[in-house]
Amino acid sequence: MDHFLYRNGALYAEDVPVADIAAEVGTPFYVYSTATLLRHYRLFDEALDGVDHLVCYAMKAAGNLAILKTLAQAGAGMDVVSGGEYLRARAAGVPGDKIVFSGVGKTAEEMRTALQGGIRQFNVESEPEMEQLNLVAQSLGMVAPITIRVNPDVDAKTHAKIATGKSENKFGIPIARARAVYARAAELPGIEVVGIDVHIGSQLTQLEPFELAYAKVAELTEQLRADGHHIRRLDLGGGLGIPYTRSNEAPPLPVEYGAMIKRTLGHLGCEIEIEPGRLIAGNAGLLVSSVIYMKSGEGRDFLILDAAMNDLIRPAMYDAHHDIIPVIEPAPGVEQRPYDVVGPVCETGDTFARQRDLPPMASGDLVAFRSAGAYGAVMASEYNARPLVPEVLVNGDQFAVIRRRPSFEEMMNRDTIPEWL
Ligand SMILES: *Cc1c(COP(=O)(O)O)cnc(C)c1O
Repeated sequence: MDHFLYRNGALYAEDVPVADIAAEVGTPFYVYSTATLLRHYRLFDEALDGVDHLVCYAMKAAGNLAILKTLAQAGAGMDVVSGGEYLRARAAGVPGDKIVFSGVGKTAEEMRTALQGGIRQFNVESEPEMEQLNLVAQSLGMVAPITIRVNPDVDAKTHAKIATGKSENKFGIPIARARAVYARAAELPGIEVVGIDVHIGSQLTQLEPFELAYAKVAELTEQLRADGHHIRRLDLGGGLGIPYTRSNEAPPLPVEYGAMIKRTLGHLGCEIEIEPGRLIAGNAGLLVSSVIYMKSGEGRDFLILDAAMNDLIRPAMYDAHHDIIPVIEPAPGVEQRPYDVVGPVCETGDTFARQRDLPPMASGDLVAFRSAGAYGAVMASEYNARPLVPEVLVNGDQFAVIRRRPSFEEMMNRDTIPEWL
């Protein structure tokens, strides 16, 4: 469920007409709904009612400070994957003891930033990383709390580019090596083991792969405890999928996911952390764009938009489907026709949809890409010297630009001409 609905024939973001935002901000832009962000966060929080838990929003899905602050004020922790994300989370008011640090390539510098600023735990992904963290912590006279991310060798049954829990993926340490690595951790004075971490991928549409992975984590918890380790925290990662099409079979709900977690791991008495990103932000955002031209090709019509692959790369990168809807609701019974929906970038990959049925469209019409809140703006670039797409946050009947469109001058001023030119 989200808060982008037609009212009297016009698309609204909560209580704000999307066309009003377009008139003020210009297109393309992303718009997020506060109510949807909070609703999704709370669904996870409530799904884990009755167990000690923390929902750590995976901010790589959508990392604008205003989004982070909205969730932080509701009580969310954050999962960060870089020093830059760590600093953003802190800038948004997230206390260090609610931040978990994931990622396969944390540098010594990033470790120092997080240790000095305060951190709940590092999710360590390799033995060399653990040795490095031990050295950094010792050099600061500190002890780094860690979980070790295990790779359970489970097929997440999702797109290959976002599956992370198979043994051939770069993530985590093989679960079969876990006991040896925990034994090494126990020898390191700069390291304190607090638990186990697992994250098997993104956009999972079934519970079964999660359950297989979590059952392996339960077994490992008991083995590690028998080995003398104090396992008190389980970080279960993110990855619960969202419906990108209305017709799709619906992915499991957070409440079903939470019930499965309790059933699989509840008996261990551990504190539970989860790291949802997409399910919190995905359906909380639209990308709004204008039609530049309707171009009739040979046997097909192209709808050329002012948004492009640099603004929303998911269709080009993951073959992702986004529903595209007109901002003015089509009259009932109006005949739809198939369009290839494309952007202006000079690549055929800059195609959002092929032969997509839409009502008749003309220059200047506004369209909205649904489910664009996650892995949208954060993956945007300035390819083709196109300004980085702005972001807007709606809250009830108010809206605010939370990242403005840069001017061409600002973009050029970031380059430096060497003195020999
Ligand atoms: C990307 C990522 C997540 C979030 O995944 P979603 O599919 O957006 O829920 C959580 N944890 C880690 C370690 C990640 O890399």
